[in-house]
Amino acid sequence: MPVDKNKPTHKIKVMDIGDIGGVDASFLVNKYSPGKPITVPCYSFLIVSETAPPIVVDTGVKEDQLDIMARLGMTCTQRPDQKLSYQLAKYGLDFNDIEVVLHTHLHIDHAGNDRLFPKAKIIFPRKELMFAVADMMDEQYPAEYITYLVEQIHVPGKVRLIDYPMELFPGIMLEPDEGHTWGSMNIKINTKQGLAIMCGDVIYSQRLQCFENEIFPEIGKHAAHSAFSFGDRSTGNYWNLWAAKAGVQKVMAEADIVLPIHDPMVVQKYGYEIG
Ligand SMILES: [Zn+2]
Ligand SMILES: [Zn+2]
Repeated sequence: MPVDKNKPTHKIKVMDIGDIGGVDASFLVNKYSPGKPITVPCYSFLIVSETAPPIVVDTGVKEDQLDIMARLGMTCTQRPDQKLSYQLAKYGLDFNDIEVVLHTHLHIDHAGNDRLFPKAKIIFPRKELMFAVADMMDEQYPAEYITYLVEQIHVPGKVRLIDYPMELFPGIMLEPDEGHTWGSMNIKINTKQGLAIMCGDVIYSQRLQCFENEIFPEIGKHAAHSAFSFGDRSTGNYWNLWAAKAGVQKVMAEADIVLPIHDPMVVQKYGYEIG
């Protein structure tokens, strides 16, 4: 999708905020090598530009309680240089500078540090909060995170729950999508390099889900015979298989720059600064 010349462009910084271990390969890609543990990165994104305040997308695993991942049989490690404060400081920012926190969804590795951003308005789809409180995906929605967000709803101006696509600032679109959880959200950013879509966990591994997979070779065959990537294998962690596949298709069809939260391909392809 070409850059919209009528809209301003924005820059995206990839913040590497931890590594998640003990993830079963079949959790990442549906039915792929069950029993094989994999370690994946955990990113957060910083959006900066002259036409919008600094925005953070997803806040990672709770920094003072990393062992919360044990509830899923997983681990999280975070070097000092992976702490959010360090990552923001790389760009001359601290928590007080962030005016907006967006969430692709509220899972345990995406919404753990919202309370560190005292001045930020927190924005995500209303459906995601409804889903999170309804005991649908177990400890992927820790009580510590969700009760905090419910309380913040009662602080005037702190939480904005959205129900439809909206343009937050020119060139920054928020689009509720049911691809990974019922209330997941794609965040679409106009950049000089094209349209970037932060798609949360709709895609864990772009390569294995869309381009080449030794267990499911049809993915590579389809991709090789198509002008656009054809693979739409879902992750193994989904609430609705049809929605999960549709979510992959949508992102792959629309994005010039695909930005999942746990896919090392992001940094391999673009480095830490985009646009
Ligand atoms: Zn998730
Ligand atoms: Zn995740």
